Amino acid sequence: MGRLAIYPGSFDPITNGHLDIVQRGLACFGRLRVGVATNPGKKALFTTEEKLELIRLSVGDDPRIEIDAFDGLLVDYAERVGAHAILRGLRAVADFEYEFQMAHMNHFLRPSVETVFLMTGPESFYVSSSLVKEVASHGKDVSALVPPPVAAALARKFGAP
Ligand code: ADP
Repeated sequence: MGRLAIYPGSFDPITNGHLDIVQRGLACFGRLRVGVATNPGKKALFTTEEKLELIRLSVGDDPRIEIDAFDGLLVDYAERVGAHAILRGLRAVADFEYEFQMAHMNHFLRPSVETVFLMTGPESFYVSSSLVKEVASHGKDVSALVPPPVAAALARKFGAP
């Protein structure tokens, strides 16, 4: 079965950058659980159901990957599903401080769950959900930056380019 890692995030929506972390994460862990954080305080473009569906369509059928949503603390979710690690991606220096704090806080809360970081791939270091949404909202084509179902969903939200 292999060791289980959780890959948590907002995934509003999933991008090629996220997919790259998923694929490379699977080379390190036997199983991956993509967890969509349902944070009511965070304004999202897509509903949790839409995010889950877009992730499902984008990663395809892979018995090593599970997809679901969670609320509450990440470390509690990790314990509930029996995860050994939390997987996060790092893009630039700007990501570092927040990720550093979170990793230490999660370690404080549950030392048995390790946070593991993968560096962003060279094709997607500049790709973020928020930039993709902004660019798409101005009618630009983002289909090279996101999986095809996401490009279609963005076109539906904002009107096709
Ligand atoms: P959150 O709100 O938790 O940061 P995101 O969906 O923005 O949720 O990101 C989830 C994780 O994926 C984070 O660890 C983030 O750094 C990582 N990530 C996002 N985009 C990329 C990318 N282009 N390359 C590598 N990692 C990424």
